[in-house]
Amino acid sequence: MIDIKTIAERDRSSVLHPFTQLKDFASGKLGDPTIVTGGKGISIRDAEGRTYIDGFAGLYCVNIGYGRTEVAEAIARQAYQLAYYHTYAAHTTEELAKLSHRLVQMAPGNASKVFYGLSGSDANETQAKLVWYYNNLRGQPKKKKIISRERGYHGCSVISGSMTGMSFYHDQMDLPFPGILHTGTPHHYWGAEHGESEEAFSRRRAAELEELIVREGAETVGAFIAEPVLGTGGITPPPSGYWREIQAVLRRYDVLLIADEVICGFGRTGADFGSTLYGMEPDLVTVAKGLTSGYMPLSAAIVGEKVYSVMEGAADRVGAFSHGYTYSGHPIAAAAANAVLDIVEKEQLSNRARVVGAHFQKRLKERFAQLEIAGEVRGVGLLGAIEFVADRHTKRRFDAQLKVGARISKAARERGLIARAMPHGDILGFAPPLVVSEGEIDEIVELAYQATRQVI
Ligand code: PLP
Repeated sequence: MIDIKTIAERDRSSVLHPFTQLKDFASGKLGDPTIVTGGKGISIRDAEGRTYIDGFAGLYCVNIGYGRTEVAEAIARQAYQLAYYHTYAAHTTEELAKLSHRLVQMAPGNASKVFYGLSGSDANETQAKLVWYYNNLRGQPKKKKIISRERGYHGCSVISGSMTGMSFYHDQMDLPFPGILHTGTPHHYWGAEHGESEEAFSRRRAAELEELIVREGAETVGAFIAEPVLGTGGITPPPSGYWREIQAVLRRYDVLLIADEVICGFGRTGADFGSTLYGMEPDLVTVAKGLTSGYMPLSAAIVGEKVYSVMEGAADRVGAFSHGYTYSGHPIAAAAANAVLDIVEKEQLSNRARVVGAHFQKRLKERFAQLEIAGEVRGVGLLGAIEFVADRHTKRRFDAQLKVGARISKAARERGLIARAMPHGDILGFAPPLVVSEGEIDEIVELAYQATRQVI
């Protein structure tokens, strides 16, 4: 029998929780920690026996759902056989070779090699180093700046946290790091001028990017990093024409494209990758989350042929590629990823996310259409968001003190639905496991609607 009180006390006295108001937690104002004890399908349960539909798949990661015994068995098999060996100096395991081969086959762009980390943040840190390394090796040592977008999210380590384009991730942390720049976010609802079409808005955003590159000097700009669909910054699909226009600018100035597929990868948008859906041809691709559905920590920086060929070409001159972690390519994580990707393929989860996702988008729009405070209902595949405003016609925002998004999220939770209050604005976000059914989608939308009505 779990002693709930002891667990809560131990936690409160000793865990430094990410993204938590420390004083409110310490004083008990936030209540006790939720002790999560189990999960099955699209739901989790806590120590008090409550169950919640997880409308956010953990943190957009548990795509195959909770409690998949196939993955648990693959993890156990590998742990019994060989729990750990490193991958330095050309060591490998069967599971790692298999995973790498399949990632190179399936990744967008002209993928050549896969480097492994443990989180999206460290994989993006690796991407930055690869951009610097590549440009040093090809004799362009000034071409090092990396441009990301306002409201983009790329993690919270030093470089990935700098790429993240929201100031509250930088404040008091001495970020952004020099040489990481930001350009405008492609959100038509907020950014477009009166009467401006999505295509015209996309051209304007691309022109702004071009101006920034020219202002800084193209010989100093190494890469542009972006999520195909902006995630934590508000779950915002790109406006029409955006990726075509942006890629034309990047090619013109020889700037690499890093596609951060940490959320979009492995089916979330209804395609295998967000890049596939939007016609992106990235030079470097970052994956994590859906790669193992959260069953083990694993990320990858997938390196395209253009970058890799320069690295290999310079090897006689510069020696070994001196970057790697003790746990790069961990065999248990690789076994988990293979078992997860087997499920993704067998159950055609990308296709399922496209079909069930279309139902989700339709239901969300229909249900919230009459609500005056639903300023924009948006999404793609099984990613969705409702942005709440005080006045739909003038787009006047709610007073931040009212914490409308957070209160609706809390009300939803009390009704047994986890839907995330996004950190930027009054936005309720959804990213359910890709195994969700249409009936469960209806339940999620209805619970979110009832929660909204309760608050406003
Ligand atoms: N990139 C994107 C697009 C993400 O959404 C996230 C996390 O949410 C990250 C990177 C960072 O991943 P991690 O939290 O595993 O470091």
